Amino acid sequence: MIYPEKSGERLHDMLGLAQAFFEPLAELGSITPVGESDLPGDYLTLLAHSGHMTITLEAWHESLVNVHVEGEFREPDRYARHSLLSRQSDGRVVQSGIMRIDLTGLPAEVRRQIEVGETPLGRILIRAELLREVELLALWRIAAGPRLARELDLPQGTIVHGRSARILVEGRPAVELLEIEGFSTLLVERERMPRHHVGESLMPETYWTFEKLGVLDKLTTSRCAKKVGVQFVNSTGQESKPFFFRNHYDHASSETWHVERPEFDQMLFDNATELGAECHDQTRVLEVLFDGDDAATARATGVRLRTADGERTITSRVVIDATGQSSLIANRFALKEMNGHLRKAAIWRHYRGAKRDESGGGVKTLIMHTQDEKCWFWYIPQSNDIVSVGVVGDNDYLLKGRGAPEDALNQEIANCPVLGGYLEGSEALDDLAVAKEFSYTTKQAAGAGWVLVGDAWGFIDPVYSSGVYFAMKSADMASECVVDALQSGDLSAERLGAWAPTFAEGTKWVRKLVNSFYSGNFRVGKFVQEYPHHAGPLTDLLVGKMFSPDMPALFADLDPWLEKMASAPRTGDEPMMALG
Ligand SMILES: Cc1cc2nc3c(=O)[nH]c(=O)nc-3n(C[C@H](O)[C@H](O)[C@H](O)COP(=O)(O)OP(=O)(O)OC[C@H]3O[C@@H](n4cnc5c(N)ncnc54)[C@H](O)[C@@H]3O)c2cc1C
Repeated sequence: MIYPEKSGERLHDMLGLAQAFFEPLAELGSITPVGESDLPGDYLTLLAHSGHMTITLEAWHESLVNVHVEGEFREPDRYARHSLLSRQSDGRVVQSGIMRIDLTGLPAEVRRQIEVGETPLGRILIRAELLREVELLALWRIAAGPRLARELDLPQGTIVHGRSARILVEGRPAVELLEIEGFSTLLVERERMPRHHVGESLMPETYWTFEKLGVLDKLTTSRCAKKVGVQFVNSTGQESKPFFFRNHYDHASSETWHVERPEFDQMLFDNATELGAECHDQTRVLEVLFDGDDAATARATGVRLRTADGERTITSRVVIDATGQSSLIANRFALKEMNGHLRKAAIWRHYRGAKRDESGGGVKTLIMHTQDEKCWFWYIPQSNDIVSVGVVGDNDYLLKGRGAPEDALNQEIANCPVLGGYLEGSEALDDLAVAKEFSYTTKQAAGAGWVLVGDAWGFIDPVYSSGVYFAMKSADMASECVVDALQSGDLSAERLGAWAPTFAEGTKWVRKLVNSFYSGNFRVGKFVQEYPHHAGPLTDLLVGKMFSPDMPALFADLDPWLEKMASAPRTGDEPMMALG
């Protein structure tokens, strides 16, 4: 193709040239010149130098790069093209570039190689020993327009940076360049995937984040058992009427799953890869790197990793800490606050062949109190006739002076005759697992260049199966703030943590419901009998609709009612559960 007619006007500067390939220029984005001091650290390394970009880029990404020509203009002695550079290691596009070259005086073989477009320009010039000098002309800040965002696989509007430069060959300006770098999302997991994890009963409200991630079909067609409701068993062995979520709100989002965590987490991990993240398991974050020691001001600059090949440091603009109870950043800055009144422990394992009730079109999570009400059990039927069974009680009661955890578990099963009946004839499948003191909050959800999500932010208690929902929802809300922060170029705590007050306000109601459960006075059926208009809001909370405006009114009545119940004798004929 020959230059377009107006090429003389269009190509007189690099942005004019850019317009020849990005028509209109808004497709490239909104472009402003910046100084070196405005460049974030990683861009500084990549752009503010007078070395050749191919070499710098390959060293930075630890991979050779391939070139893919997106468009070109040819004249007898001039050649211009728009090309993408992608890493050979994983095919990820890491640079969008435009170059214009004066071919006069270049050896015929060099001209041929440039025009074939199979080798990055830098490599051709270096091999031909023609690369003499690179002159940095300007640095650019670009809010990625639709086409650039597509090319670099970033959300539209993400702030990226680029440079224009020229290459002098034998002292003569021969090549002009506009090079724009894009960054990827790196996700690292220290375990080998798939890995086991506790937390198998989901809350229905997780639906909306699954929908956003595009995994609803994968879940629907997976072998995961469909969870259609919850059921409570009190200390006298009385089973409540099952509470089916669909009866409250007849919509697909009212049903969820009992998942096998190895497969569920692997599916999310693979989905992240499909959506463009670079995902590595068996890669441990040894530390998050900061430019200071004060959580209020320290900026996260990257992470130090241990991979199978040794240690590696990665610089990054934002670090999202999703390390669960390891809580890397919260521990580093002593941000964790343990919930003193919820010093619980749990012991659990899986059984095959235990009782299974699929009335209502799926399985239910059962919450069963022991006879003395010192503990409660979860009973989570999964696929393949397997049930997850766990006991939760005060840490000191459950783990101290009880012998081995196996003994404590068996004693508590004996203390819960309904469960004993359910497990009759079943076979224990795996070793016991134990967790303790898992309830805490963090004082600060975000800082400069860092943000906490999921258990790394906080965890309340397993009783209402809220953990995975909190992890998914907080990550969902935080990711929007990260995109917004990248788009604005403002990576402050305020911007990255803008989601946290709303989220904390929602979780406050779940926390209060957990406290109600452990108060020993929460007779749900009786409360709803006295306050029938609260049945809906209470149900909302059980399915995870914690941002509902009805919550303050619910607790304005529930809190004093619980105090009243503390001194009220039990009548023995109270309704167990009447929601929906
Ligand atoms: C006894 C008990 C029962 C529970 N039952 C339920 C339930 O039924 N339903 C429910 O929804 N929730 C339940 N939960 C809560 C649930 O387990 C968690 O809330 C949920 O898994 C949190 O997800 P997350 O992604 O934040 O953290 P995690 O799922 O813990 O994931 C964190 C990941 O980070 C990795 N990691 C840690 N440190 C590093 C590092 N340095 N470098 C790299 N990777 C690292 C870990 O290997 C892990 O894979 C339960 C919790 C407990 C304690």
